Amino acid sequence: MGTPYNALKTNIGFMLNKPIGFSRDFSLAYDEIRISSDLEVRNLKSDYRLSRTQEGLLFQGTVSGEIDTQCARCLEPASVQVKAEIDEIYFFPDRVHDESEQVIPEDGYIDLGNVFRDYLLLEMPINSLCKPDCKGICTECGQNLNLAECEHTNGRIIFDA
Ligand SMILES: [Zn+2]
Ligand SMILES: [Zn+2]
Repeated sequence: MGTPYNALKTNIGFMLNKPIGFSRDFSLAYDEIRISSDLEVRNLKSDYRLSRTQEGLLFQGTVSGEIDTQCARCLEPASVQVKAEIDEIYFFPDRVHDESEQVIPEDGYIDLGNVFRDYLLLEMPINSLCKPDCKGICTECGQNLNLAECEHTNGRIIFDA
């Protein structure tokens, strides 16, 4: 179901034989794409630069997109626009200092989807709203107050903005 999520594997092998300091700019855009097994993004855009360094490859850029989530007030589906700055180093295997560091994959393919996912999810707001003035749900009867009022509210908004 949905779109496959391996579309964003990118070959960085050609960068590894370049002289230190060599860099190249990339940019990509997708209307809708599943970037990992658990995340689909609309209007995904990324501009990034790969630079060859002494220790490996520097990956710098921006990524943005729209992610589906749930409204914190009414629990209905909501969509948030997220943007993140990427700053990541992929080390040659013999240059790795500790386990938390990224290693240049043996096959020379970086899974951009995973990188984008990690950075985008970090920027997700904790309380996303379906709309700025969402009225939420009644804590007594569960009525979605965007759709109708209930006997408990008398038109009062339960959640402060
Ligand atoms: Zn809402
Ligand atoms: Zn109610």
